[in-house]
Amino acid sequence: GGTVGIVGGGQLGRMAALAAARLGYRVHIFSPEPDSPAAQVAAAATVAAYTDPAALESFARAVDVVTFEFENIPADSVRRLAEIVPVRPSWTVLETAQDRIVEKRFFNGIGIATAPWRAVDGVAALEAALAEIGRPAVLKTARMGYDGKGQVRIDADTDAAAAWAALGKAPGGAAGSAILEGFIDFQGEISVVIARGGDGAWAAFDPAWNVHRHHILHTSTVPAPIPAATATAAIDIARRAAEALDVIGLLAVEMFVTPDGLLVNEMAPRPHNSGHWTIDACLTDQFEQFIRAVCGLPLGSPRRHSDAVMTNLIGDEAADWLDLLRDPEAHLHLYGKAEARPGRKMGHVTRLHRPGGGFDEATMI
Ligand code: ATP
Ligand code: MG
Ligand code: MG
Repeated sequence: GGTVGIVGGGQLGRMAALAAARLGYRVHIFSPEPDSPAAQVAAAATVAAYTDPAALESFARAVDVVTFEFENIPADSVRRLAEIVPVRPSWTVLETAQDRIVEKRFFNGIGIATAPWRAVDGVAALEAALAEIGRPAVLKTARMGYDGKGQVRIDADTDAAAAWAALGKAPGGAAGSAILEGFIDFQGEISVVIARGGDGAWAAFDPAWNVHRHHILHTSTVPAPIPAATATAAIDIARRAAEALDVIGLLAVEMFVTPDGLLVNEMAPRPHNSGHWTIDACLTDQFEQFIRAVCGLPLGSPRRHSDAVMTNLIGDEAADWLDLLRDPEAHLHLYGKAEARPGRKMGHVTRLHRPGGGFDEATMI
């Protein structure tokens, strides 16, 4: 028993709270959003700004451990929490994941390859970086970007000053700190979600094959259509990163598959959208594994018992959810969001297939 404090009120917090409840824990959510998806299923919720010192303090006193489903909370807030209660993963992990420049430097520093990159803080620096890295390239805000927001692609004829101006209007753009990355002509994208306990034990889920639509994750498929050696290499990258950061909790690492090997794109120190398939296809899912790691419990088996395809339901795609309920192959998950705004993640559906089998209807169980 005990109470798990989760910072952030989205669907990741909701599914983590459901997993925690199954293990007998109470969950207390901290989120600025009233009636958030996570708060709807939690025992308690604090609705306050992530920077509210009094609210942070009373939240920390009400819980036994704090974790995050949203990593972009300020250093000062994490410090306040950590003075009162164990915070897992630690500030160092969040700090590294909050800033794409710090993140890329971290990966390269432990010998893990990424796209070529330069930190840029203005048009002159951008022009210099473009001269070194070449085109096409991708300019990203260093902080706060998600779902492809805060990114500008720079093609052969893109004006650097115009690209810089466009970035300024994006999330995190006003800060003026950005990264230029060489554009990777990848064969595909994969991600590994790894859990690591305070005792150093770790367990990784199979790499998922991720397809994006309009810069938002569309499907995650397992097994990924990659050679076994590539899957092993991907898990090894995730493990080395989790160990170097001393993660207690989950780490999700996104990678590009290229003919020359894997390149890390970015990481997230929390459950990840590309790990939702684990709920329906693994012995222990990413949310339970997250709670186990954060609460100091033994990790469960991440073994996959079925092949699976997870499809996100974005905006009005969740409108025909009753049809999905009629589909015996479909495992539907809805997040309790009232308003289906365009681009908003409303739910997901996972379809299971016989392990090792193809995706041919005739071979399904
Ligand atoms: P997320 O929602 O995954 O947090 P994000 O906004 O943080 O997304 P990234 O993951 O960095 O952004 O990029 C989003 C997508 O854009 C990637 O999954 C990939 O498809 C594409 N992309 C990003 N960087 C590059 C690159 N250097 N070369 C080619 N494609 C890229
Ligand atoms: Mg991201
Ligand atoms: Mg990403």
